[in-house]
Amino acid sequence: MQVLLLQVLFYHPEGKLMSEKLTNEQKHILFNEGTEPAGSSSLNYEKREGHYCCAGCGTKLFESTSKYESGSGWPSFFESVPNVFETKIDTLIGSPRTEYHCKKCGGHHGHIFDDGPKPTGKRYCNNGICLVFVPEKK
Ligand SMILES: [Zn+2]
Repeated sequence: MQVLLLQVLFYHPEGKLMSEKLTNEQKHILFNEGTEPAGSSSLNYEKREGHYCCAGCGTKLFESTSKYESGSGWPSFFESVPNVFETKIDTLIGSPRTEYHCKKCGGHHGHIFDDGPKPTGKRYCNNGICLVFVPEKK
Protein backbone atom coordinates (compact mmCIF):
# COMPACT_ATOMS: atom_id res chain seq x y z
CA MET A 1 0.00 0.00 0.00
CA GLN A 2 2.79 2.34 0.91
CA VAL A 3 4.49 1.70 -2.42
CA LEU A 4 1.34 2.62 -4.29
CA LEU A 5 0.97 5.87 -2.39
CA LEU A 6 4.60 6.77 -3.02
CA GLN A 7 4.24 6.05 -6.70
CA VAL A 8 1.41 8.48 -7.07
CA LEU A 9 3.63 11.23 -5.71
CA PHE A 10 6.47 10.72 -8.13
CA TYR A 11 6.43 12.59 -11.39
CA HIS A 12 8.65 12.13 -14.37
CA PRO A 13 10.91 15.14 -15.02
CA GLU A 14 8.82 15.82 -18.10
CA GLY A 15 5.73 16.09 -15.98
CA LYS A 16 4.13 12.75 -16.73
CA LEU A 17 2.86 10.61 -13.91
CA MET A 18 4.99 7.49 -14.24
CA SER A 19 2.79 5.05 -12.38
CA GLU A 20 -0.07 5.56 -14.82
CA LYS A 21 2.14 4.22 -17.56
CA LEU A 22 3.46 1.14 -15.76
CA THR A 23 2.23 -2.16 -17.14
CA ASN A 24 1.41 -5.09 -14.88
CA GLU A 25 4.68 -6.73 -15.93
CA GLN A 26 6.66 -3.61 -15.02
CA LYS A 27 4.95 -3.47 -11.64
CA HIS A 28 5.67 -7.16 -11.07
CA ILE A 29 9.39 -6.78 -11.78
CA LEU A 30 9.82 -3.45 -10.00
CA PHE A 31 7.87 -4.26 -6.87
CA ASN A 32 7.80 -8.07 -6.67
CA GLU A 33 11.40 -8.64 -7.73
CA GLY A 34 10.45 -10.38 -10.95
CA THR A 35 12.76 -10.94 -13.92
CA GLU A 36 11.94 -10.42 -17.57
CA PRO A 37 12.80 -13.21 -20.07
CA ALA A 38 16.36 -12.95 -21.39
CA GLY A 39 16.56 -11.19 -24.74
CA SER A 40 13.05 -9.73 -24.44
CA SER A 41 14.02 -6.08 -24.09
CA SER A 42 14.51 -3.84 -27.10
CA LEU A 43 17.00 -1.91 -24.95
CA ASN A 44 19.46 -4.76 -25.55
CA TYR A 45 19.94 -3.19 -28.97
CA GLU A 46 19.88 0.45 -27.90
CA LYS A 47 23.17 2.08 -28.95
CA ARG A 48 22.27 5.76 -29.02
CA GLU A 49 23.76 8.36 -26.70
CA GLY A 50 21.60 9.34 -23.78
CA HIS A 51 20.69 8.05 -20.38
CA TYR A 52 18.46 5.50 -18.72
CA CYS A 53 15.85 6.41 -16.11
CA CYS A 54 13.90 4.37 -13.60
CA ALA A 55 10.51 3.39 -15.06
CA GLY A 56 9.06 3.65 -11.57
CA CYS A 57 10.02 7.21 -10.70
CA GLY A 58 12.08 8.79 -13.48
CA THR A 59 15.38 8.95 -11.57
CA LYS A 60 18.40 8.91 -13.88
CA LEU A 61 20.23 5.62 -13.25
CA PHE A 62 22.72 4.97 -16.06
CA GLU A 63 24.58 6.88 -18.74
CA SER A 64 24.70 5.28 -22.19
CA THR A 65 28.50 5.48 -21.96
CA SER A 66 28.46 2.81 -19.22
CA LYS A 67 26.35 0.38 -21.26
CA TYR A 68 28.07 -2.57 -22.87
CA GLU A 69 27.18 -5.79 -24.63
CA SER A 70 27.46 -8.59 -22.07
CA GLY A 71 25.75 -11.25 -24.13
CA SER A 72 23.52 -12.09 -21.15
CA GLY A 73 20.27 -11.08 -22.84
CA TRP A 74 19.70 -8.19 -20.45
CA PRO A 75 20.83 -4.58 -20.78
CA SER A 76 24.16 -4.41 -18.96
CA PHE A 77 26.12 -1.54 -17.48
CA PHE A 78 29.50 -1.45 -15.76
CA GLU A 79 28.64 1.59 -13.67
CA SER A 80 25.55 3.40 -12.40
CA VAL A 81 24.99 7.06 -11.66
CA PRO A 82 26.42 7.54 -8.11
CA ASN A 83 24.13 7.00 -5.16
CA VAL A 84 20.96 5.95 -6.94
CA PHE A 85 20.77 2.34 -5.80
CA GLU A 86 20.59 0.39 -2.60
CA THR A 87 21.64 -3.23 -2.57
CA LYS A 88 20.75 -6.33 -0.64
CA ILE A 89 21.65 -9.99 -0.85
CA ASP A 90 18.95 -12.28 -2.14
CA THR A 91 18.95 -16.06 -2.14
CA LEU A 92 15.98 -16.60 -4.45
CA ILE A 93 17.87 -19.05 -6.63
CA GLY A 94 19.78 -20.73 -3.80
CA SER A 95 23.16 -19.03 -4.13
CA PRO A 96 23.40 -15.47 -2.87
CA ARG A 97 23.25 -12.63 -5.38
CA THR A 98 23.49 -8.89 -4.92
CA GLU A 99 20.14 -7.38 -5.83
CA TYR A 100 19.83 -3.64 -6.39
CA HIS A 101 16.88 -1.35 -6.26
CA CYS A 102 16.11 2.30 -6.85
CA LYS A 103 16.73 4.41 -3.76
CA LYS A 104 13.87 6.72 -4.54
CA CYS A 105 10.94 4.43 -5.36
CA GLY A 106 12.31 1.10 -4.13
CA GLY A 107 11.82 -0.48 -7.55
CA HIS A 108 13.85 -3.64 -8.16
CA HIS A 109 16.07 -3.40 -11.25
CA GLY A 110 18.37 -6.40 -11.34
CA HIS A 111 21.54 -7.92 -9.93
CA ILE A 112 25.19 -6.90 -9.77
CA PHE A 113 27.83 -9.42 -10.80
CA ASP A 114 31.62 -9.25 -10.63
CA ASP A 115 32.30 -10.25 -14.23
CA GLY A 116 32.03 -6.82 -15.86
CA PRO A 117 34.64 -4.99 -17.91
CA LYS A 118 37.22 -2.56 -16.63
CA PRO A 119 37.46 -0.13 -14.93
CA THR A 120 34.81 -1.27 -12.43
CA GLY A 121 34.69 -5.01 -13.09
CA LYS A 122 30.98 -4.83 -12.28
CA ARG A 123 28.02 -5.90 -14.34
CA TYR A 124 24.70 -4.30 -13.56
CA CYS A 125 22.34 -6.79 -15.14
CA ASN A 126 19.17 -4.73 -15.49
CA ASN A 127 15.66 -5.63 -16.51
CA GLY A 128 15.09 -3.51 -19.62
CA ILE A 129 11.43 -3.16 -18.83
CA CYS A 130 12.35 -1.20 -15.68
CA LEU A 131 14.29 1.39 -17.67
CA VAL A 132 13.20 4.31 -19.81
CA PHE A 133 15.79 5.39 -22.37
CA VAL A 134 16.06 9.13 -22.93
CA PRO A 135 18.07 9.95 -26.08
CA GLU A 136 20.42 12.88 -25.79
CA LYS A 137 19.01 16.00 -27.38
CA LYS A 138 21.36 17.33 -29.97
ZN1 LIG B 1 12.79 4.52 -9.09
